[in-house]
Amino acid sequence: MAPLIKEISEQTGLPWFNNPGPFKSTKGLLSGVRDGYLVSIGVVGQGMKECICAVIRFRRTADEKALLASMDRFKSFTGGGNFQLQGQTLVCTLPKPIQGTNGQKITEKLDQILRELALRAQPFDPGKCEGEGCRNEVSEITLINGNANFICGGCKIRIAGKQEEKRRRYLTTPSNYLKGFLFGTGGALAAGAASAVLSYWMTDDKGMMSVKLACILPFGIAMAAAFMVKKGIGKISRVSPSSPHSWVFCSAMFFTTV
Ligand SMILES: [Zn+2]
Repeated sequence: MAPLIKEISEQTGLPWFNNPGPFKSTKGLLSGVRDGYLVSIGVVGQGMKECICAVIRFRRTADEKALLASMDRFKSFTGGGNFQLQGQTLVCTLPKPIQGTNGQKITEKLDQILRELALRAQPFDPGKCEGEGCRNEVSEITLINGNANFICGGCKIRIAGKQEEKRRRYLTTPSNYLKGFLFGTGGALAAGAASAVLSYWMTDDKGMMSVKLACILPFGIAMAAAFMVKKGIGKISRVSPSSPHSWVFCSAMFFTTV
């Protein structure tokens, strides 16, 4: 375990998984429950460009705009940060300063963010499936692409079907990312989404694919989808690279927004 990840794990008590997750990080990720929220944390990038990324999932919010606006005050932490929100998921990207960041500081900041979040976003019911209308008991989290979920077996299958449908829609509407994918907020995000999908599926040639697939969909649909994404590569090969927080966000969204 990389030193900083280990420190954060010790401070937060979140367990470490050897899983690149939405962060596509070789350092693995931390994922689990904190204050009723499902939190995944990873370190992204290299050297000066290293960032701490956190994907925080909550049950619901009444006002996404107010929730996102309330995160503004955290942007000054270590000289800038980025917050993006989609549905039940908040993605935080905190640039790591050259010196002085440690697990304790990151954990303090995370807890401040969670306290602010708690004013506007309802946490999950631990022990209950998060599936819409489902009250099945769930005793542990499931990682879906490194994102923590409280989800029962039946809902996993239902969600896998919906994700497959999203992929199919995306692939059959090449001229319109916004309709084909799941964003309605602009070209930059859509481009990020495309590159997230590409980088997610295409960059590993060392056997990581099977690990990723095992993490995303323990239900066998993924292989067909991966093949379809490969076939679709020509449509989106000219998309320019996006920033780390953008692709983390999009990668997170792709598998958590249902
Ligand atoms: Zn369920």
